[in-house]
Amino acid sequence: MRFDVLTLFPEMVLSAVRYGIMGKALDRGIVDVRALNIRDFARGPHRTTDDRPYGGGYGMVMKPGPIFRALQTVERTGKAHPVILLSPQGEVFNQRLAWELAELDQLIFVCGRYEGVDERIRDLCIDREISIGDYVLSGGELGALVVMDAVTRLLPHALGGEGSNTEDSFADGLLEYPHYTRPSLFQGIAVPEVLLSGNHERIRTWRRMESIRRTRERRPELLRTAELDPDEISALAQIGRSKRDDEPGNGPGL
Ligand code: SAM
Repeated sequence: MRFDVLTLFPEMVLSAVRYGIMGKALDRGIVDVRALNIRDFARGPHRTTDDRPYGGGYGMVMKPGPIFRALQTVERTGKAHPVILLSPQGEVFNQRLAWELAELDQLIFVCGRYEGVDERIRDLCIDREISIGDYVLSGGELGALVVMDAVTRLLPHALGGEGSNTEDSFADGLLEYPHYTRPSLFQGIAVPEVLLSGNHERIRTWRRMESIRRTRERRPELLRTAELDPDEISALAQIGRSKRDDEPGNGPGL
């Protein structure tokens, strides 16, 4: 997978991708990350990349020319290489979208700064607009890094022996079960007995139920689309009943 990032701060991108799973994916040639400085495509003695907005108002707008010219120089590899604008107005990024992007050959990111990019860049060059959440950042670089990191984890061999993307939260529509490591007793809190039992079937069932319980507590809306078998659906109903029984004012049998 090749990532090309158009930015005013290439070092910000290139330094962040050197760490952890992304760094290893780079070393192993699983991903290739290039960062283009938009300023290199600006004209004039000051190589200005922004200007005042037509119509007046706050802030500056990124000029279309430098971004347009930078995009024209990006070598396209493979068949699918969408140009993605990072923007708080885009489709909100999630694990489903990460899986979708992980199927492609190349992702080309345009990182805005200031008040964002001239609208004509959207019209002419952008295939997809992605937001990493309902808040406003100062620039698109962190957004591009978030997307690249989440996508890289899904690429074949990227995780090596360090984990599994099939058990991560959202992989099956649920949050992941809780994790424990040594010591078995820490500050008076013991690791659940089942995890020490060596019984893989019991451990699998416990983890699955904890995953469902946790999702119900923290992100109940995910259960609407998660795939649960009939036993799990009745166990979920049971969790719901016992929870309501615990609430003040609810007698047994509610
Ligand atoms: N004025 C813009 C608006 O209200 O929609 C916000 C511009 S923001 C200060 C500057 C740049 O940061 C944007 O062009 C975009 O590239 C990036 N950005 C800000 N919030 C983002 C988010 N939630 N997701 C992805 N990129 C974001």
